[in-house]
Amino acid sequence: MPRYVNRFDPVDELICCILSQHSADANSFPAFTLLRATLPEWEDVVAAGPERVAEIVKGAGLANQKGKFIVGSLRALAETFGSYTLDPLRVMPVPEAMAWLQTLPGVGPKTAAIVLCFGFGKGVIPVDTHVHRVSMRLGYIGPKTTANQAHDELLKVVPGELAFAYHSLLIQHGRMVCRAPRPRCGECVVAAMCPRQGVG
Ligand code: SF4
Repeated sequence: MPRYVNRFDPVDELICCILSQHSADANSFPAFTLLRATLPEWEDVVAAGPERVAEIVKGAGLANQKGKFIVGSLRALAETFGSYTLDPLRVMPVPEAMAWLQTLPGVGPKTAAIVLCFGFGKGVIPVDTHVHRVSMRLGYIGPKTTANQAHDELLKVVPGELAFAYHSLLIQHGRMVCRAPRPRCGECVVAAMCPRQGVG
């Protein structure tokens, strides 16, 4: 069972996640590393402004938009919490923290869930395309449930302490076995409990 590992500080997680939107990890991680190396303090990033940030992170794609989102989000942290921190979210109830994060520019349910799950180890399930598809095939969410709605719906059937493991295992299962076209139901370890076995 995958265990929660804190890979980044929550603010790093937020900025890295904004850079990863509509971008492969192979492009967004180097852009994040370059941003941190070029402008090591968050106040440097804000002072540089969105256009300079866009130049630095252009390898992640949609750089103009992401430059604005990054600078705007950092400004909001400083204005709300008095510094470039997300620490107050540590003690905030999850629904409140999810809602607050989504007031930041460029932050939707998936990014908010990643920050809370990966940055703080909270019981929130980030729903990407694999988690969405496999959850639907297994019947944990309805056929019309959108990925955004799934963040709330899945928490009704998955205990919070299993959120990180559920997210990690479904991504792996979705990539390797329950693929979008032609799922490998014959090799699937959860086929016996899947209403879509052999149907996809
Ligand atoms: S039985 Fe098939 S459709 Fe169901 S989870 Fe396994 S691979 Fe996916």
